[in-house]
Amino acid sequence: MGKKKSPAHKARTRKAGAAPAKSSGPLPRMRVDDYVTFASFGREILVECPECDDCATIRQIDILPTDRLQRIAKASCLHCGKQSQFPYPYNAWKTLPLWLKTRCHGNSLWASNEKHLAWLEEFIGAGLREDKLACATTRNSLHAILPRWMTAAKNRDDVAKALRRLRAKFSQTANRSS
Ligand SMILES: [Zn+2]
Repeated sequence: MGKKKSPAHKARTRKAGAAPAKSSGPLPRMRVDDYVTFASFGREILVECPECDDCATIRQIDILPTDRLQRIAKASCLHCGKQSQFPYPYNAWKTLPLWLKTRCHGNSLWASNEKHLAWLEEFIGAGLREDKLACATTRNSLHAILPRWMTAAKNRDDVAKALRRLRAKFSQTANRSS
């Protein structure tokens, strides 16, 4: 007679929320309920220097003393030493000459700095789908306001490719300024 394995011996040692020993899919997972906003990436914004076309850094945003509704972003360039100023309206990423910006699916894909880029790389690489994003409860968090073309599963490879272009550009910048 053969031995029967008792199902009662199936140990349920895994706690709720603990990562499984083996990944169920080929893509890494990422929590979608993390509260991430632009402020999470720090205040630095990388822009194109108007003097030498290389990478300058915005570290300060001031309110104009003459018009308290107007804000000015102050940038400095490590390459040529130029100090420059840019208008900084609401939605400033539409008007600033962002350094980490490329085209993807007819849209502008951009990152304000390296931390933002790294977050996008992780997010897009995590294989998230629209249904997961719909679970996000915090409307202001970044994954909740990412455009649909960026988060659509069918565009992931193209978005990942565009992010690699930005990463390559950032790496070259970092090498030059070090
Ligand atoms: Zn410059």
